[in-house]
Amino acid sequence: MIHIKIVKAGVGQTVLMPFDEDGNAYCPVCGTPHLDDPAYDLSGAVGWGICPKCDVEFGVEDSPLHGEDIKDMHKELRKKWLDRTGYQPEDLQRLQDVFGIDRESWTKSE
Ligand SMILES: [Zn+2]
Repeated sequence: MIHIKIVKAGVGQTVLMPFDEDGNAYCPVCGTPHLDDPAYDLSGAVGWGICPKCDVEFGVEDSPLHGEDIKDMHKELRKKWLDRTGYQPEDLQRLQDVFGIDRESWTKSE
């Protein structure tokens, strides 16, 4: 069972971080397990890792330059990743399992 924790990563900055009951972190963009290197920990500290699945470099690609909320940036990075990889059924299923995002809700941008 995965729970989404609202992590404060700075003033006005929130991250929606999935963790399971054993404290294992999942990618906040694509939902892949990050067993050794969470993108953010529960204190909001960034892990500076690169997700092997969606290639997002945390702390760099999701660094808010103009005051954007990080959770909104993750949403955009998720969309870009899906656009790039072609909305693979297993990716959509994982997003549904981890984030509760209905896999039918994606609209592909052509
Ligand atoms: Zn990822």
